[in-house]
Amino acid sequence: MNKQKIVILGGGTGGTMTANRLRRRFDEDEAEIHVVDRDNRHVYQPGLLFVPFGLAQTEQIVRPRRRQLRHGIVFHEQEIESVGLDEEVVRLGDGTTLPYDVLVVATGVRLQPEETEGLTGPGWLENVFTFYNVEGAAALQGALERFDGGRLLVNLVDMPIKCPVAPIEFVFLADWYLRERGIRDRTELVLSTPLDGCFTKPIASKHLTYLLEEKRIGLEVEFAAGSVDGNAGILRSYDGRELAFDLLVTVPLHGGAEYVERSPGLGDALGFVPTDPHTLQTAVKPNVFALGDATDVPTSKAGSVTHFEGDVLADNIARFLHGDELESRFDGHANCFIETGFHKALLIDFNYDLEPVPGHYPTAVGLPLLKESRLNHLGKLAFQWAYWHALLPGRELPGIGATMPLAGKRIPAGVAAGRIGATT
Ligand SMILES: Cc1cc2nc3c(=O)[nH]c(=O)nc-3n(C[C@H](O)[C@H](O)[C@H](O)COP(=O)(O)OP(=O)(O)OC[C@H]3O[C@@H](n4cnc5c(N)ncnc54)[C@H](O)[C@@H]3O)c2cc1C
Repeated sequence: MNKQKIVILGGGTGGTMTANRLRRRFDEDEAEIHVVDRDNRHVYQPGLLFVPFGLAQTEQIVRPRRRQLRHGIVFHEQEIESVGLDEEVVRLGDGTTLPYDVLVVATGVRLQPEETEGLTGPGWLENVFTFYNVEGAAALQGALERFDGGRLLVNLVDMPIKCPVAPIEFVFLADWYLRERGIRDRTELVLSTPLDGCFTKPIASKHLTYLLEEKRIGLEVEFAAGSVDGNAGILRSYDGRELAFDLLVTVPLHGGAEYVERSPGLGDALGFVPTDPHTLQTAVKPNVFALGDATDVPTSKAGSVTHFEGDVLADNIARFLHGDELESRFDGHANCFIETGFHKALLIDFNYDLEPVPGHYPTAVGLPLLKESRLNHLGKLAFQWAYWHALLPGRELPGIGATMPLAGKRIPAGVAAGRIGATT
């Protein structure tokens, strides 16, 4: 094999683990590996959930990107301007061009709060916040400390969002936090969503709705947020409904990275990259692959998904470079801990074809699924260590593979199992 040039766009979860996996696989005389990201701050994003409640500090969840990359990977701290698919080059903010033999798109999503009328107007970072980035989560920590009761409204503007369970976890933790502070009985806590239930998958949605009711958390469904009046403290939907708030916590609109729009042929109308859901090769060009939140594959936008995809992606890039047929091995496997407060969490595990069901993960003696437990909470906390020390460096996690395990799952009668367990 001639020396190949692999360029990876994005040095977040997917880009870093892919670069490290490929560096382990190819010697430096076989492949040059380049990673491009606009900054040198790698954020452990699941930790953002804990910052507003004082359960984590921002400096505990941010590390230098460069230091997460193995020796022999070239890091470019630059804005990506565009990709020239015909010329096979990436153009960077400083005017540099990077030619590639294989391109990996791992630039995640872009938060677009400015797309919702009034959201970033009066009240932004005063009584309107998001915890979906470091600055927002830190500012919200102060606002929650000052909050002394009233109406706390959590809204997700539209799907898709990354980590679709995070807004639900937020209201569960808020319930716990407000009780600890003794102000829960003078706070109305409400979750509003454009979906017809609190979550996309029916069985999990039923379990989570039961927990919301038990914790006296209101749920407003099919609420398509259209505008925000921060001065009056009102969130309005497109169909004229109004929700009042003293404190609004928003999950803003998500879209793909801006440079995708500036790169003809690379993305769809939302800026996501059309990607084969099983091989992770894009529909754009055979030598362009994608993983993580940047793709349009029909599973959750989550770090766990990115990790499972990364396993299949590294194999398929190696196959592509050797001229072998790609493996259709990714089954949409997603796995999420859902914090429910009071040192407990739920766990869900699913793929393209099987929604989250009860049982245990990854085997019959593993962590309980769809059931609150302290063990799951400890699992969520331990995950941060695994993220920095196993996932990002591209190491295998014993017993945790790309394909969703069936052992331990109790599939209720009538639930379509589809091609569960399929590996091709
Ligand atoms: C509050 C919150 C809680 C979460 N909790 C969980 C959880 O519990 N479990 C879970 O599995 N997942 C969770 N996630 C989701 C998870 O963090 C993401 O799905 C995951 O990080 C996706 O990885 P990625 O590589 O696709 O994108 P990212 O990790 O976001 O990386 C994308 C990178 O691309 C870079 N980039 C983008 N555009 C450009 C450009 N033009 N130029 C240069 N660089 C660019 C960005 O700087 C960024 O570093 C959570 C997310 C949030 C926000």
